[in-house]
Amino acid sequence: MLHVHTTFSDGTLTPRQVADQAAGRFDVILFSDHSDLHWEYRLAFVAAQVSRPSLLSAGFPAYLEAIGTAAQAHPELVLLPGMEASPYYYWQGLPLTTGFTLRNWSKHLLVAGIESPADLSALPMYAYGTSRYHPYGGDHGLAPYQEFIDAVAARGGLCFWAHAGVDTVAHFEQVTASTPAHGDDLWRTRGYTGFGASGPSSRLADPGGPWDRALLAYCRGQRERPPWVIAENDYHRGAFPDHPVTVLLATARTRAAVLEALREGRMYACSLPADQLSLEQFTAADPARGQAAIMGQTLSLPAGTVEIRALLHATSAGTAFRLLRDGEVLRTFAGNEVSYTDTGLPPGLHYYRLLAATPGGGALISNPVFVRSGPWKG
Ligand SMILES: [Zn+2]
Ligand SMILES: [Zn+2]
Repeated sequence: MLHVHTTFSDGTLTPRQVADQAAGRFDVILFSDHSDLHWEYRLAFVAAQVSRPSLLSAGFPAYLEAIGTAAQAHPELVLLPGMEASPYYYWQGLPLTTGFTLRNWSKHLLVAGIESPADLSALPMYAYGTSRYHPYGGDHGLAPYQEFIDAVAARGGLCFWAHAGVDTVAHFEQVTASTPAHGDDLWRTRGYTGFGASGPSSRLADPGGPWDRALLAYCRGQRERPPWVIAENDYHRGAFPDHPVTVLLATARTRAAVLEALREGRMYACSLPADQLSLEQFTAADPARGQAAIMGQTLSLPAGTVEIRALLHATSAGTAFRLLRDGEVLRTFAGNEVSYTDTGLPPGLHYYRLLAATPGGGALISNPVFVRSGPWKG
């Protein structure tokens, strides 16, 4: 279960209570409390401020300690400390006038794999005084976010765009906060690990959408790494959920193995519990040499024939399976099994991915399997 809030920001359960609830239902929790819930306007003799509990007020040491204590009580769970960061926002309009708006505060990035308080608080975020971008005088575009992503990568962390397909409007005291959906940031920023594709953000994974644009750029050598899909719960309060789920193909139930699976793309996102919809197998194989690759991996072929196999588990009849290559639908399958032989694959790097949809609106989104097809040039 990825993207979980606690009492360290605007959630209602403590980390220990989250772990108690998760036990027996999930194996992994990524805690993602808000870096800050703090906005201020100080310009031209006008000062306004909104401040709510967050990691900025609680401090990283107390947060990490509380998660550590929960982990001791639940050694069967992998509890990852993380953060939902708001690197930047800007003010639009003038205070005390209509149209005065806090813009883009909800452009959120989830961080995982950085567990030093000093490293976390050094990441460039306006509320921490560590960003060189300020919220006055207009939008700085994607620069503050790209710097944040680069700083996370430089510290060995993982970084995911959260709910990028959602239009967010919220009211905090006298301030209106507005963040338009920003799915194009998936291809306009680089070096991040992945993105959440739950709820309206699942459309970012539609064939030919912004995710495919980023993946195609990777295949053409225009990006250094492909971004991966995850499911995000964004859990704050109320009944503890059993979906959506990110199913990780980790080699062990350890923090290191889970982070490695997230980093390498060995996972898929599913909006339903695993007993209703799951992906049992998804491989690209070289029939001539008996080699195969799974999600996140790259299969190298001397010639352009590749066998795609997938097995789906779906309890609702009428679940349809789409197999995509390079962002386009190759074929739709009605059963639970995909078997597809692709011949004549042009030389170069390609990818296959799967989308499953149930009649009730459930969705499963796989990560891509890459295939590099020859002939090779010496
Ligand atoms: Zn958020
Ligand atoms: Zn959140």
